[in-house]
Amino acid sequence: MFFYPDLMVDKITNINGGILSGLGVKNILLDIDDTISPNDGTAISSDTLNWVGMLKEKSYKIALISNNSEDRAEYFAKILGTPYVYKAMKPLPFGINKCMRLISAKRDNTVLIGDQIFTDVVGARLCKIKSILVEPLNKEGGFFLKFKRLLEGRIRCSCRQR
Ligand SMILES: [Mg+2]
Repeated sequence: MFFYPDLMVDKITNINGGILSGLGVKNILLDIDDTISPNDGTAISSDTLNWVGMLKEKSYKIALISNNSEDRAEYFAKILGTPYVYKAMKPLPFGINKCMRLISAKRDNTVLIGDQIFTDVVGARLCKIKSILVEPLNKEGGFFLKFKRLLEGRIRCSCRQR
Protein backbone atom coordinates (compact mmCIF):
# COMPACT_ATOMS: atom_id res chain seq x y z
CA MET A 1 0.00 0.00 0.00
CA PHE A 2 1.24 3.45 -0.95
CA PHE A 3 1.25 4.86 2.59
CA TYR A 4 2.85 1.82 4.22
CA PRO A 5 6.54 1.87 5.10
CA ASP A 6 8.68 -1.23 4.56
CA LEU A 7 9.03 -1.43 8.32
CA MET A 8 7.78 0.27 11.49
CA VAL A 9 9.86 0.51 14.68
CA ASP A 10 9.47 2.42 17.94
CA LYS A 11 12.81 4.23 17.67
CA ILE A 12 15.80 4.39 15.36
CA THR A 13 18.11 2.59 17.77
CA ASN A 14 15.96 -0.54 17.26
CA ILE A 15 17.18 -0.63 13.66
CA ASN A 16 20.19 -2.92 13.70
CA GLY A 17 22.51 -4.23 11.00
CA GLY A 18 20.39 -7.37 10.66
CA ILE A 19 17.27 -5.37 9.84
CA LEU A 20 19.14 -3.23 7.31
CA SER A 21 20.74 -6.17 5.53
CA GLY A 22 17.32 -7.86 5.53
CA LEU A 23 16.07 -4.88 3.54
CA GLY A 24 19.17 -4.99 1.34
CA VAL A 25 20.15 -1.49 2.44
CA LYS A 26 23.62 0.12 2.53
CA ASN A 27 22.67 3.81 2.40
CA ILE A 28 20.58 5.68 4.94
CA LEU A 29 18.78 8.98 4.52
CA LEU A 30 17.90 10.16 7.98
CA ASP A 31 15.17 12.64 8.89
CA ILE A 32 16.04 15.05 11.72
CA ASP A 33 12.95 16.46 13.45
CA ASP A 34 11.33 13.94 15.78
CA THR A 35 13.48 11.15 14.35
CA ILE A 36 16.93 11.90 15.81
CA SER A 37 15.97 14.94 17.93
CA PRO A 38 12.65 16.28 19.29
CA ASN A 39 11.18 19.02 17.09
CA ASP A 40 11.17 21.51 19.98
CA GLY A 41 14.87 21.41 20.78
CA THR A 42 18.35 20.25 19.85
CA ALA A 43 18.72 17.33 22.25
CA ILE A 44 20.22 14.18 20.82
CA SER A 45 20.53 11.08 22.97
CA SER A 46 23.79 9.23 23.52
CA ASP A 47 21.98 6.10 22.26
CA THR A 48 21.37 7.87 18.94
CA LEU A 49 25.00 9.04 18.75
CA ASN A 50 26.21 5.51 19.44
CA TRP A 51 23.79 4.10 16.88
CA VAL A 52 25.11 6.39 14.15
CA GLY A 53 28.67 5.52 15.16
CA MET A 54 27.88 1.80 14.98
CA LEU A 55 26.41 2.14 11.48
CA LYS A 56 29.38 4.13 10.23
CA GLU A 57 31.72 1.53 11.65
CA LYS A 58 29.83 -1.07 9.63
CA SER A 59 30.39 1.23 6.61
CA TYR A 60 26.81 2.28 6.07
CA LYS A 61 26.62 5.65 4.37
CA ILE A 62 24.39 8.18 6.12
CA ALA A 63 23.05 11.59 5.10
CA LEU A 64 20.59 13.86 6.87
CA ILE A 65 17.49 15.03 5.03
CA SER A 66 15.31 17.70 6.56
CA ASN A 67 12.51 20.01 5.50
CA ASN A 68 13.79 22.38 8.18
CA SER A 69 16.29 25.26 7.94
CA GLU A 70 19.95 25.11 6.97
CA ASP A 71 21.03 26.15 10.49
CA ARG A 72 19.25 23.22 12.05
CA ALA A 73 20.37 20.64 9.50
CA GLU A 74 23.97 21.85 9.65
CA TYR A 75 23.96 21.71 13.45
CA PHE A 76 23.13 17.99 13.49
CA ALA A 77 25.29 17.21 10.47
CA LYS A 78 28.31 18.61 12.35
CA ILE A 79 27.55 16.51 15.41
CA LEU A 80 27.06 13.32 13.40
CA GLY A 81 29.69 14.04 10.75
CA THR A 82 27.37 13.47 7.81
CA PRO A 83 26.36 15.38 4.68
CA TYR A 84 22.92 16.97 4.72
CA VAL A 85 20.12 18.43 2.64
CA TYR A 86 18.00 21.19 4.20
CA LYS A 87 14.62 22.53 3.05
CA ALA A 88 14.29 19.23 1.22
CA MET A 89 10.56 19.73 0.56
CA LYS A 90 9.78 16.06 1.23
CA PRO A 91 7.72 14.31 -0.07
CA LEU A 92 8.82 15.90 -3.36
CA PRO A 93 11.65 13.88 -4.91
CA PHE A 94 14.19 16.64 -5.64
CA GLY A 95 15.71 16.92 -2.17
CA ILE A 96 15.72 13.17 -1.66
CA ASN A 97 17.46 12.63 -5.00
CA LYS A 98 19.99 15.33 -4.14
CA CYS A 99 20.63 13.66 -0.79
CA MET A 100 21.20 10.31 -2.51
CA ARG A 101 23.71 11.91 -4.86
CA LEU A 102 25.68 13.27 -1.87
CA ILE A 103 26.47 9.73 -0.76
CA SER A 104 26.36 8.09 -4.22
CA ALA A 105 23.38 6.00 -3.13
CA LYS A 106 21.47 3.74 -5.50
CA ARG A 107 17.70 3.40 -5.31
CA ASP A 108 17.74 -0.33 -4.68
CA ASN A 109 19.97 -0.15 -1.59
CA THR A 110 18.76 3.04 0.09
CA VAL A 111 16.28 3.60 2.92
CA LEU A 112 14.72 6.79 4.22
CA ILE A 113 14.15 6.69 7.98
CA GLY A 114 11.69 9.19 9.43
CA ASP A 115 8.69 9.79 11.68
CA GLN A 116 6.10 11.10 9.21
CA ILE A 117 4.07 9.14 6.69
CA PHE A 118 3.12 12.08 4.46
CA THR A 119 6.65 13.41 4.12
CA ASP A 120 9.09 10.55 4.77
CA VAL A 121 7.23 7.41 3.68
CA VAL A 122 5.49 9.05 0.71
CA GLY A 123 8.74 10.76 -0.32
CA ALA A 124 10.56 7.43 -0.28
CA ARG A 125 7.75 5.88 -2.34
CA LEU A 126 7.92 8.61 -4.95
CA CYS A 127 11.68 8.08 -5.20
CA LYS A 128 11.30 4.30 -5.28
CA ILE A 129 13.49 3.75 -2.25
CA LYS A 130 12.69 1.89 0.96
CA SER A 131 11.33 3.49 4.12
CA ILE A 132 11.32 2.82 7.84
CA LEU A 133 8.81 4.68 9.98
CA VAL A 134 9.68 5.49 13.61
CA GLU A 135 7.46 6.83 16.39
CA PRO A 136 7.90 10.63 16.68
CA LEU A 137 10.18 11.61 19.59
CA ASN A 138 7.90 14.50 20.51
CA LYS A 139 4.19 13.83 20.19
CA GLU A 140 3.30 17.48 20.76
CA GLY A 141 3.08 19.99 17.94
CA GLY A 142 0.88 22.65 16.41
CA PHE A 143 -2.63 22.09 15.11
CA PHE A 144 -1.53 21.08 11.62
CA LEU A 145 1.00 18.56 12.90
CA LYS A 146 -1.58 17.11 15.30
CA PHE A 147 -4.05 16.74 12.44
CA LYS A 148 -1.46 14.97 10.30
CA ARG A 149 -0.57 12.68 13.21
CA LEU A 150 -4.25 11.81 13.63
CA LEU A 151 -4.45 10.65 10.02
CA GLU A 152 -1.09 8.91 10.33
CA GLY A 153 -2.27 7.09 13.43
CA ARG A 154 -4.97 5.37 11.38
CA ILE A 155 -2.50 4.28 8.73
CA ARG A 156 0.01 3.08 11.36
CA CYS A 157 -2.79 1.07 12.94
CA SER A 158 -3.91 -0.65 9.75
CA CYS A 159 -0.29 -1.28 8.79
CA ARG A 160 0.35 -3.00 12.13
CA GLN A 161 -2.68 -5.24 11.68
CA ARG A 162 -1.38 -6.53 8.38
MG1 LIG B 1 10.40 14.38 11.11
